[in-house]
Amino acid sequence: MTANSSDSSDRSCAPRAVIIGAGPSGFFTADQLLAAGVRVDMLDALPTPFGLVRAGVAPDHPNIKAVTRVFEKTAKKDGFRFFGGIMLGRDVTRAELLERYNIVVYALGASDDNRLGIPGEDRPGSHAATHFVAWYNGHPDAADYEFDLSARRAVVIGNGNVAIDVARMLVLHPDELSVTDAADHAIKALTESQVREVVLLGRRGPAQAAFTHPELSELSHLVRAGVEVDASDLELDEHSARWLEEEATPTGRRTSELLREYATAGPTQASHRIVLRFLRSPVEILGEGQHGPVTGIRVVRNEIQPIEGRGLSAVPTGDEEIIEAGLVLRSIGYRGRPIDGLPFDNRRGVIHNIGGRVCEDGHRYLGEYVVGWIKRGPSGIIGTNKKDAADTASSILEDRDDGLINAPTIVDTGEIAAFYAERVPDAVTWVGWQSIDAHERSSGEPHGRPRIKLVRIAELLTRARAINTSS
Ligand code: NAP
Repeated sequence: MTANSSDSSDRSCAPRAVIIGAGPSGFFTADQLLAAGVRVDMLDALPTPFGLVRAGVAPDHPNIKAVTRVFEKTAKKDGFRFFGGIMLGRDVTRAELLERYNIVVYALGASDDNRLGIPGEDRPGSHAATHFVAWYNGHPDAADYEFDLSARRAVVIGNGNVAIDVARMLVLHPDELSVTDAADHAIKALTESQVREVVLLGRRGPAQAAFTHPELSELSHLVRAGVEVDASDLELDEHSARWLEEEATPTGRRTSELLREYATAGPTQASHRIVLRFLRSPVEILGEGQHGPVTGIRVVRNEIQPIEGRGLSAVPTGDEEIIEAGLVLRSIGYRGRPIDGLPFDNRRGVIHNIGGRVCEDGHRYLGEYVVGWIKRGPSGIIGTNKKDAADTASSILEDRDDGLINAPTIVDTGEIAAFYAERVPDAVTWVGWQSIDAHERSSGEPHGRPRIKLVRIAELLTRARAINTSS
């Protein structure tokens, strides 16, 4: 492990926080705490930082990824240390962190996918979109995943921005793909893909779609793919029409207008297409035999009804149809994973908290906080985490000022680094990450790509270690 060298002695009495998870919410929180004089150690299960910015944001959205420059500035601040490759529960326990830190912040995101709970969900060819995203983004856990892209039609279930991302990735032209930081294995497979049509399936109507206007609009600028919407799918029921008229945001209205424009334009002449279909819920994923590969999906037509406590909901009409397809990607949202010993809201998939303070039924977990998706659920864009982090940081700083943070028994900075080094000798420091980063960028540059990602843990660790021998 290389030295993390940014811990200056004038801070040696300052409270120490550990943030678990090096994604956007973790970094935004780190920045706030460092500015208030708190020392911050950041752990991540991967050797690399940036969470969903590296492994979630679509490769053809480099502008969104540019936020890492902000995080790099945070990492340069006095009092910050990074320990990559250390996983809570596997390498260190919650109790061991509480022995060493005044403040423990869980910024773990929401790494599990929701389940449809329908027959055929686990057939070969039916995948969680989260797996597909991790695969094309070069997440080491997904490096060996395989997706059969030999069918002409794929169905993406869900109407959020992740569904739009995966649909778009399936139809990008090789020239659009080849300039991205998508994993090499994904570029190769997507270039050879036979998929020509991607059906995006929403269980509710166009007025309730979760995707946002810029993402929907982007679909009309793809090199080889067009968008199709059946005008009959856009006929609004009375409840949705009233909602659109009286309650929808301007962006929601623009999304509805854009869908009408797509419908008016008629069938696309492009070689590839994304077909948006609404008011249909999957009932069964069909396939060969009981466990054979996907051949299609049986869907039921829904109508929109207001339901007490749930708002405008999809209610099945009983009319069913079959959509033939060889690939199904289920993009119906993420959920957080529980942490041993902390109170978990199973319904929402988040850790119980008030304002980021972990608590349940009036019981405070002193010194323990949450931020990001594990705090509020999987919603919002990256920038949403900035405000969310500011709220958690403000709770933390208020508690620090009131003397309501944890009192660790081990406070020595060197001991903490030695503890990690003993547990995970290969843990990657910020200097190690910079070595990985420089290597990936320089490999990408001759090909006009932002980087070529290393997708194997062993390769990442070797590259991080390279700094040890050269410095
Ligand atoms: P999301 O926005 O919550 O969308 C989930 C979709 O799944 C909704 O359309 C939902 O329909 C549908 N769904 C849920 N359960 C279903 C079921 N049983 N059957 C059929 N459909 C079902 O989640 P997401 O797409 O995973 O995105 C997560 C967050 O990341 C969002 O805030 C998103 O905006 C953000 N994100 C942003 C970008 C970007 O800025 N470019 C890119 C990717 C993700 P209902 O509405 O009917 O529940």
